[in-house]
Amino acid sequence: MLPVDLPTGLFLGGRFVAGTDTLAVRNPYSGAIIAEVATGGPAEVDRAVRDAAAHLPPPPPVERARVLERTAEILAARAEDLARVVCLEAGKPIRQARGEVARCIDTFTFAAAEARTLSGETVPLEASAPGVGKIGFVRYAPVGIVGAITPFNFPLNLVAHKLAPAIAAGCPVILKPASKTPLSALLLAAVLADAGLPPGALSVVTGDGSAVGDPLVDHPDVAMISFTGSGPVGWAIRQRAPQKHVALELGNSTPVIVAEDADVTRAAAKIAGSGFAHAGQSCISVQRVYVHESIHAAFLVELRTAVERLVVGDPATETTDVGPVITTESLARLEGWLTAAVVEGAEVVTGGGTRGGLLLPTVLDGITPRMHVSCEEVFGPVVGVAAYHAIDGAIALCNSTPYGLQAGIFTARVDAALRWAERLEFAGVVINETPTFRADQQPYGGIKGSGNTREGPHYAVRNMCEPRLVIVDLPDV
Ligand code: NAP
Repeated sequence: MLPVDLPTGLFLGGRFVAGTDTLAVRNPYSGAIIAEVATGGPAEVDRAVRDAAAHLPPPPPVERARVLERTAEILAARAEDLARVVCLEAGKPIRQARGEVARCIDTFTFAAAEARTLSGETVPLEASAPGVGKIGFVRYAPVGIVGAITPFNFPLNLVAHKLAPAIAAGCPVILKPASKTPLSALLLAAVLADAGLPPGALSVVTGDGSAVGDPLVDHPDVAMISFTGSGPVGWAIRQRAPQKHVALELGNSTPVIVAEDADVTRAAAKIAGSGFAHAGQSCISVQRVYVHESIHAAFLVELRTAVERLVVGDPATETTDVGPVITTESLARLEGWLTAAVVEGAEVVTGGGTRGGLLLPTVLDGITPRMHVSCEEVFGPVVGVAAYHAIDGAIALCNSTPYGLQAGIFTARVDAALRWAERLEFAGVVINETPTFRADQQPYGGIKGSGNTREGPHYAVRNMCEPRLVIVDLPDV
């Protein structure tokens, strides 16, 4: 049962309204339908764009900052409701869902600070002969209407990473949340309305990826698409809208190096925690561990012990660490990849099977680069391990996939790790912590197949703005 009286309509014109059809939202643990949510299509996208256009130029930064600050306050007051919705629709264990809500509050808080502090710059025109007698300055203006498209795995905070910077930048925004998890986004829209966001400055159009996504991407009055999700969908959007600003936050196959001098117990405990949180369904879940051959056996013992302590079960239960993956199709894909990895020579250290329909946290040893569990994004509770002989080989293995979001290193020699970090082809390298670490104000995003942008309010706000130059000729007086 839903913990709160949740909105289930399309959010248009500041109200929740009926759509053309509905979609069923299921609890991934029980399979039960928890809500029927209205869906829209091209007509609703068009209406949202017209409403959004009325909000340009935007209200002044001080008003936008107040809405964001007030939103953070309301989110804090309703934190438990929000956590329960995240838990129910995404199958995220309740303690982890509370963590997502806390991070969402941070995201709005940092966005409010950006709204208050975003400034331009002066241009040193008199540094060249043609500029003598002139002054120039750049101010950062909102890029226009932003279309935001979000995935299922952080149904609240990844929506916040689109909406909060858009509001801070002064961009009206139209959100298409993931069809599997639209409820957190709708509840967030209600919170934003309560916080004073004017009607039409945000619309939420739920519905099928292409039925809503295509008209949003194609609409000539939408200036920018901000997308978080899988690579194939993201890069197809990039191709579909060559003249738009398209910001992509995509997947990863997250590697970690555990060097010979690392604290093995600590590394194993950290990896057990962050490889299996939300059943491994984070774009930076630890997926591949390259461990020095001299500590390989000891590390496997420690990792197995830590993983077997994880509590698997109902995500609504306080003690649960690992819940379900999002759909039975995901489960079937993971089972197929595990079977293939074993056929190709990997050994199951722990897990490998299901209990009560849940895939047990699984550790494989002896993964090789061509296995699905190495070269593709697993997005499930599976961590693969392989021993390495020399650091050059470990770095090459880390770099051997098309992805480049975050990577990690455990070692006692931070000076060496700083050098290794330079050679890791990832947008972020985390030393002596797992690469699953993310603080919401950090620059976050990927290179290579993992995307083309950085989020975190400071960075996202600037991405949602464009520099506008003003030059004034000053006559002699
Ligand atoms: P997905 O299948 O790519 O879906 C993401 C969003 O795109 C959903 O809202 C989906 O709608 C929509 N969509 C589908 N087809 C579309 C189209 N033709 N046009 C426009 N939008 C379309 O991804 P997911 O399974 O929800 O999420 C998992 C993926 O997200 C993983 O690859 C993960 O690594 C990535 N991710 C990346 C980050 C990051 O910050 N880098 C963070 C979290 C997740 P429907 O739901 O209606 O299909």
